[in-house]
Amino acid sequence: MEGALTARDRVGVQDFVLLDSHTSETAFLDNLRKRYRENLIYTYIGTLLVSVNPYKELGIYSVKQMEIYQGVNFFELPPHIYAIADNAYRVMCTEYNNHFILISGESGAGKTEASKKILQYFAVTCPTTEQLQIVRDRLLLSNPVLEAFGNAKTLRNDNSSRFGKYMDIQFDFKGAPVGGHILSYLIEKSRVVHQNQGERNFHIFYQLLESGEEDLLRWLGLEPAPQKYMYLIQGRCAKVSSINDKSDWKTVRKALSVIDFTDTNIEHLFGVIASVLHLGNIQYEEDSNGHAIITNGSQIKWLSKLLGVHLSILQEALTHRKIEARSEEVLSPLNIDLAFCARDAAAKAIYGRTFTWLVNKINGSLANKVGSCSMIGLLDIYGFEVFDTNSFEQFCINYCNEKLQQLLIEMTLKAEQEEYELEGIEWEPIPYFNNKIICDLVEEKHKGIISILDEECLRPGEATDLSFLEKLEEKVGDHAHFLTRKLADQKTRKSIDWVDFRLLHYAGEVTYCVVGECGLDNNLQHLRWCGKSSPLPHQCFLPLELDNRRRPETVATQFKNSLVSLIEILMSKEPSYIRCIKPNEGKEPGKFDDVLIRHQVKYLGLMEHLRVRRAGFAYRRKYEVFLQRYKSLCPATWPHWHGSASEGVERLIKHIGYKPEEYKLGRTKIFIRFPRTLFATEDAFEYS
Ligand code: ADP
Ligand code: MG
Repeated sequence: MEGALTARDRVGVQDFVLLDSHTSETAFLDNLRKRYRENLIYTYIGTLLVSVNPYKELGIYSVKQMEIYQGVNFFELPPHIYAIADNAYRVMCTEYNNHFILISGESGAGKTEASKKILQYFAVTCPTTEQLQIVRDRLLLSNPVLEAFGNAKTLRNDNSSRFGKYMDIQFDFKGAPVGGHILSYLIEKSRVVHQNQGERNFHIFYQLLESGEEDLLRWLGLEPAPQKYMYLIQGRCAKVSSINDKSDWKTVRKALSVIDFTDTNIEHLFGVIASVLHLGNIQYEEDSNGHAIITNGSQIKWLSKLLGVHLSILQEALTHRKIEARSEEVLSPLNIDLAFCARDAAAKAIYGRTFTWLVNKINGSLANKVGSCSMIGLLDIYGFEVFDTNSFEQFCINYCNEKLQQLLIEMTLKAEQEEYELEGIEWEPIPYFNNKIICDLVEEKHKGIISILDEECLRPGEATDLSFLEKLEEKVGDHAHFLTRKLADQKTRKSIDWVDFRLLHYAGEVTYCVVGECGLDNNLQHLRWCGKSSPLPHQCFLPLELDNRRRPETVATQFKNSLVSLIEILMSKEPSYIRCIKPNEGKEPGKFDDVLIRHQVKYLGLMEHLRVRRAGFAYRRKYEVFLQRYKSLCPATWPHWHGSASEGVERLIKHIGYKPEEYKLGRTKIFIRFPRTLFATEDAFEYS
């Protein structure tokens, strides 16, 4: 019949591996577009899940849906994030090994939503006991708390995660969630004191002011009006239509009590949040010597009360710098610009450390008390981002994305192809872009950008932003992914600290602005702030104080080291991948922006992944493992097989009837081309 569309024409294929024209980017995009039009946001490439943000509620996350996916073989149902979660869970339960699910994609692509969906899936479908209910609730409720303190409205995303998060969910041998642990990465502290036009500070500030109980606000010395606070008005958008600060506040309050925060904890927590707001309202003027003095006394009184620090100490910390001259400490007065910097630095440090304290506190409440067997890690880390002005923080975020891309390449494209070679399986190598070269540019010892930054930070007083840039030029200037932009009018600018460099990342080009930010956190002035009467700030600063004798590490190096250990954690686990795609820049439902999406398909390496998948094998098992699991399906191998494991497997699959095109036998493993082959065997096993 003319005009009749087959299902395939209309909704495309649910696994890109099934595309006829598997090498064409256009065919790939057509398939993605077709499905997106039908509200089918998920598509597989083998076992990898591609997800396109629908920007609308689809009604596909009900408990009923969860039940449908529970315990069902991967490819028997339409692609879904629940299938990925369920698969990781089931393999974990049968093989007692650890897993992680890496969720990547740029800011606004849907990573955080994806990680929440997975957590909900486990919370609903895993077995639990009455005692374990509380663990489940805490796992779920840790999210709104962390989001309140760690997420903010940006131009890209109304609920953008401004910190990286890795969460382990621990299960006992029956598969019940028994605990969890969260690692957080580099919260974007600069947001506390500055927001770009159209962006907000962290949600918690607005929630507190919008809906904080009258008593609480009075106790904190706050007025219920965001526009009164300097740290909240720069972005000029305290109200956002998609955000309901009032109901979010209620959720956070409830969550805090479930996570076992005492009233005192809560008081102190909001005491710190309020002190940040009070700090932002501190104003200075110049005295006759050009030294900064504080003009409004009321803020500082509140600060003194909330932080438990004596007024005179506060005043001194906000207007003076401590200089160490030989063994003596000298207080030197600050001019007005530096005083504002000192104020902002204190606000950032207080907020940053409070966030760390909060994560630790949540971890305390998630700590498992019964002993766990295996775990599934969820990685939801800030996506690659490019703004008009990109600072040190974007540099770290994008470097982090390079590292994760590298991990994915190592664990899929590279490892997979190397394994075929190692196992003696005939294989036509598939070329791909390896971003290791960019990771090296950033992190290599002695030669990388971070090393150069460290060196410059060790020359306080001598190093400037310009000298840093010159060093970069000298050491990495001819690197293919390093591009400087010497501003023609650099010399004419009033200060020399307006210089930038460009990096060609795997996801695109980014210009970083180097503004007096050597990334050093060693101006520990604010340490003097920790009062005895307010336990929270005290706890926040204590570890730093003890560390003070060591040579301070730059923030960049700390971050690099934390990423190195994260990668180590991940490499020891079985991976699953979710690649999130952002369909348009306008957060619009249903709009499929071809150019934007093509770019992401390209840099995420999805085509390469598809090529490797199509030519390769979906499953592989060591002969011993395969034989041990399925030997009961063949009389010759059951109950004992006396020959070599590989011969046993050969007998076994001959008996089950694998066709030659379905598998290959390597040196130590059997390789199975299609998932359905293994699933059929698994079914036969279960019903045998
Ligand atoms: P990311 O963490 O990648 O920056 P988010 O997960 O915060 O992005 O998603 C941004 C926004 O997109 C969410 O606030 C939500 O409005 C929408 N969104 C993302 N994923 C989905 C989904 N699966 N269904 C409906 N809306 C979604
Ligand atoms: Mg996010």
